[in-house]
Amino acid sequence: MATCIICHLGIIEGLDSSQDCPNGHFAHIDCLKEWLVHSLNCPLCREPYPKEVIGQFKEYIDLKENLKQITNDKQKKQEEVKKMERISSKISFLKFVESIEILINEKEFDYALSRLDLHNDSDIPIEIQQDILFLMGKINYLRGRYDLAINQLFKLVKENYYYPEGFLYLGKAYEALGLEDKAQWAYERVK
Ligand SMILES: [Zn+2]
Ligand SMILES: [Zn+2]
Repeated sequence: MATCIICHLGIIEGLDSSQDCPNGHFAHIDCLKEWLVHSLNCPLCREPYPKEVIGQFKEYIDLKENLKQITNDKQKKQEEVKKMERISSKISFLKFVESIEILINEKEFDYALSRLDLHNDSDIPIEIQQDILFLMGKINYLRGRYDLAINQLFKLVKENYYYPEGFLYLGKAYEALGLEDKAQWAYERVK
């Protein structure tokens, strides 16, 4: 009894319909139909199936192709929407940062900190959380709370070593406390 090269089960003569490739490799019709959706060559010897063979399944292959295309399009659209959402949340965060900068310039430190506190939660992207931590550290430095500033900025640069402004204000806070060695260490990491 011949064996199907796709499912490896027997092909029972008179019961199972089958088709072979030009090199005589048999497959169940139903197995071949699925296979042709992925490839038009024999899975065993890679010989292309003749046009007449493929023709029998053309409708089914086209249908599957269309379904694949529709699924791909759907995924692309979803990705597009996600991208737009990321961009718009980034833009609204930039506006928020601008409003914080204004408060800092006006020396409204407590108000700025309370607004940052409201914005801070673990659902937001990590880069934004780090920017918030930076702004809190910077504000604490500006209002003379060097201990708090060091605490926050140190946590920030531990999470993101490539945050030059974090090191800059960390250095300033150390310097303000007279910790010259530590300030030096932070300044060296600014660039
Ligand atoms: Zn089979
Ligand atoms: Zn073959």
